Amino acid sequence: MSSVDLSNLENHTPMMRQYLGVKAQHPASIVLVRMGDFFEAFYDDAETIARLLDLTLTARAKEKNDPIPMAGVPHHSAEGYVARLIALGRTVVMVDQVEDPKKAKGLVRREVTRILTPGTFVDPDASPRAVSHLVAVARPPGKRFRFGLAALDVATGTFRATGGEHEDVLIDELARLEARELLVPESWREDELCAPVLARIGRDLPGLTQTWVGASEAAPEPARAALVARFGAEEVTALEPLLAAESLAAAGMALGFAERTQLAQASFERQAGGHLGHVAELKPYATGDALVLDHEARLHLELFRSAGAAGRRGTLIGALDEAVTAMGGRVMAEWVARPLLDVARIAERQDAIAALVARPSALDALRSALKEVHDLERLLGRVVMGRSNPRDLAALRASLGRAPEALATARDTGAALLDTLTATDVVEDVRAELARVLVDEPSVDLGEGRVFRDGVDPELDRLVALAERGKEVLLDIERRERERTGISSLKVRFNRVFGYFIEITKANLKAVPKDYIRKQTTAGGERFYTEELKTYEEQILSADELRLARENELFRALVGLVSKQAPRLHRLAVAVATLDVLGALAHVAERRGWARPIVDTVDRLEIKDGRHPVLETLSGELGEPFVPNDVSLGLLEDTDVRVLIVTGPNMAGKSTIMRQTALIVILAQMGSFVPAREARIGVVDRVFTRVGASDDLSRGRSTFMVEMAETARILRSATARSLIVLDEIGRGTSTFDGLAIAWAVAEHLHDVIGARTLFATHYHELVELSRDKPRVHNAHVAVREWNDQIVFLRKLLPGPTNHSYGVQVARLAGLPKPVVDRARAVLAALEAQELRAGDGSLVEAKSARGKGRTSQLHLFAGPPVPSAAPVVEAAPPPSAAEAEVLAAIRALDVDGLTPREALARLAQLQGSLRS
Ligand code: ADP
Ligand code: MG
Repeated sequence: MSSVDLSNLENHTPMMRQYLGVKAQHPASIVLVRMGDFFEAFYDDAETIARLLDLTLTARAKEKNDPIPMAGVPHHSAEGYVARLIALGRTVVMVDQVEDPKKAKGLVRREVTRILTPGTFVDPDASPRAVSHLVAVARPPGKRFRFGLAALDVATGTFRATGGEHEDVLIDELARLEARELLVPESWREDELCAPVLARIGRDLPGLTQTWVGASEAAPEPARAALVARFGAEEVTALEPLLAAESLAAAGMALGFAERTQLAQASFERQAGGHLGHVAELKPYATGDALVLDHEARLHLELFRSAGAAGRRGTLIGALDEAVTAMGGRVMAEWVARPLLDVARIAERQDAIAALVARPSALDALRSALKEVHDLERLLGRVVMGRSNPRDLAALRASLGRAPEALATARDTGAALLDTLTATDVVEDVRAELARVLVDEPSVDLGEGRVFRDGVDPELDRLVALAERGKEVLLDIERRERERTGISSLKVRFNRVFGYFIEITKANLKAVPKDYIRKQTTAGGERFYTEELKTYEEQILSADELRLARENELFRALVGLVSKQAPRLHRLAVAVATLDVLGALAHVAERRGWARPIVDTVDRLEIKDGRHPVLETLSGELGEPFVPNDVSLGLLEDTDVRVLIVTGPNMAGKSTIMRQTALIVILAQMGSFVPAREARIGVVDRVFTRVGASDDLSRGRSTFMVEMAETARILRSATARSLIVLDEIGRGTSTFDGLAIAWAVAEHLHDVIGARTLFATHYHELVELSRDKPRVHNAHVAVREWNDQIVFLRKLLPGPTNHSYGVQVARLAGLPKPVVDRARAVLAALEAQELRAGDGSLVEAKSARGKGRTSQLHLFAGPPVPSAAPVVEAAPPPSAAEAEVLAAIRALDVDGLTPREALARLAQLQGSLRS
């Protein structure tokens, strides 16, 4: 390691001293300094970027001390390298030359021109549907852990704040927000309540960058000042009753931090804007407003990422996101991550979707109008942050032109939510102004073509005319000079270095008049100017320059005007996005035959002909049609089902049924229709999932530990209103430990928690739970045996199954025939032994297999299930001869035999069996 040594600064060159000064202010960031055509990093930073970006590590030898490690990237391609560093969770500080090296006396002045952090960097190449949150946390003084949290999406201006009581809630919320960067007050580092929470965040959310914020910025006053500067004192006072002090502090921290990073950049680019004007409001929300889907549930239910496929393939969001606009896509993701609890709000969305489903032509019209609405939120973000060009404003104008049409298609349906959305202010004044001043197709850059219409600004018109007239004069000069000299190839030309000149080829140099003044010699001839040309050159160049300056001024004014209306534009963007999501859900419902579920607060869950929302769209690839299933849980007409034990052979479809049930609940609480013929869903407060034996080596804990830790968390946090999906828990340990744990967990869920639970298990012994526990019910996924093969029927039927068909499944999977046959024989032998060993239930019998484990027996003791089908097909008992052979073998003193004697005995035993 070669760390920065600040002790003997005088040994450094002035440039390095400048660098060390910046580095001291940004110790946790990678500092890149512009030197010539490169941005260079030094010391540890050099080693880091050399490793991360695969660059050559060199050394700066100029220094009087030891050579300093150095690595750099070319300045013209720095953007790409920097984006990679940020994607890797690093913060980058760029120090650029702020004066022309040619004009500088002595050391070139350098300043921090950009501060790029994972949470504030707006990557122009990011997927438009991606959301990147900067999250800040703060905590009130006190002995218990409580937190305030604020989340800001710099690209779109979405800004929210909440708070909570428990670290689990914080971690769930960070996962749900897909936070990229977490601002943490420095004081948390030492705090005995907070430090372990941060450690856990680091472990559970490894992609999240933690950034320390100094005490001065994390304190309540500066935080409040940042909010007041953005929203005004009145607005902040209005927020105070709605948000705890620590939530407001977090919000101020996030906003202040984001503004500091954006300002550094905007002032460097000398653009208008540079503030976060599109952050129109701070929205308070309660973490308890939404169905909680923790990290595990998001993973196991494949809401946003699928284990088997890249991108969105195979995920719920992939199957659902038919939104036309990127804004709509982002809101859809938000709805999936945050389904509702409030039955009235759910019904409001359902009403809107139903209204659109009932009006197919309005739905079509809505979706085609939306196709021409650009990403208003991001456009607006670029405008107010000073990063827009004239094309962006034209795109804004076009979008504002189409938005009213989109709203109109969904008017007068009687659905309250649609009525509200379609009544949104369409900000016609801004559209009209943009239409008045901008030409139809403005150039991308100022000064490169037309941006403003004639008549918008007399001064600009004058300068444009001047510049254009000047160009005509040049053509005139060219014509006259050709005539005068008789050189027909004579040309008046321009380049940036030499300005305007007359070009004469070698062959014609004899004919050059005396008043031509030589400017430059080239390979093909010579370049000249005349006094007349010089005069016009000055006029034209200054007209062009003045014109660019004037356009710049007008453009800034226009950006200012749009920025001032940012809150109204933001509200319109949200309304359009929401309409888009409702339209998309209506489209999906109509296309796939989804039904409107009854969502209420009754403690039950009944699904008729439910399908898996993702698999049903992939059934072409499954090679079999998707088979719908009924699932009933909770308070039913004639019974109460708390725990439904689902058995069935491997690959039968157990996991699919359980996941589809959870997904249908999530969809229903989003307000969406669901893939089922009918569904009645009593709202669920959390969905818990635990899938056994998934490897979790990345987190450095043993599989079984992870499984138990998560199971423990479920038992701790589940309520009677939760939906719990346990898929083969207990797999990660020995059979008996696993069975014992699964049994005890199921009992606890039944006796104590009473949550609606789906429990798939390969421990068939668990079906016996229902004997003592009236609210434990059994179901199995049916298969049919046919010619010693199995056919998957994919139907969930009541009652248990006791046959695991493992060998048949193995055969189906292509295990070689001799191995399958051998397995069959071993299985038969094991089953025979089991039956003989036991006289009670199968469970008791099985325990005979594990020597010294009899202490676990009584856990499951009890008479056999009367209704159960024959447990296994018993192998015939041994014949008399066989029994004799076995007895003889048992009696053998193996150690006392010579090999020869052993062989002889073996032959003899074999003989007695043959006879
Ligand atoms: P299990 O959990 O019982 O081992 P899975 O639920 O993982 O079985 O299902 C195995 C495979 O069977 C799935 O990947 C899917 O291809 C197919 N499958 C499951 N359920 C159905 C169904 N209802 N209709 C059609 N195919 C299904
Ligand atoms: Mg499974």
